[in-house]
Amino acid sequence: MPLECRDLSTFLPAYVDGEFAGTETAEIEDHLTGCAECRREVSVQEGLKAAVRRAAPALAPIELREAVREKLRDAAVEIQAVRGLGYKLVVPEDQRAGDAAGAHRESAGAAG
Ligand SMILES: [Zn+2]
Repeated sequence: MPLECRDLSTFLPAYVDGEFAGTETAEIEDHLTGCAECRREVSVQEGLKAAVRRAAPALAPIELREAVREKLRDAAVEIQAVRGLGYKLVVPEDQRAGDAAGAHRESAGAAG
């Protein structure tokens, strides 16, 4: 069963994390061989992973690893969502900061 690009996007975080067995890795790499776009996504994922590893101690606690994996997964989802419009990595971190502001209903004065 050949893998599709959108399948790859889902697997990439775990792939760069080395969580797949040899057979699965071979399938993914087989797709990467003929898909420059997915290879690029791998580079992005590896870049994030490398950045996190530099910022974190040699052995990160389980909680941190889980958080990182979630973030990577979110990033992958974002990449997948905008694939049609163009390649773009969007880390949903600003959204959390903006949410804290809670400026949802601001101008609710005279309506009529
Ligand atoms: Zn692909």
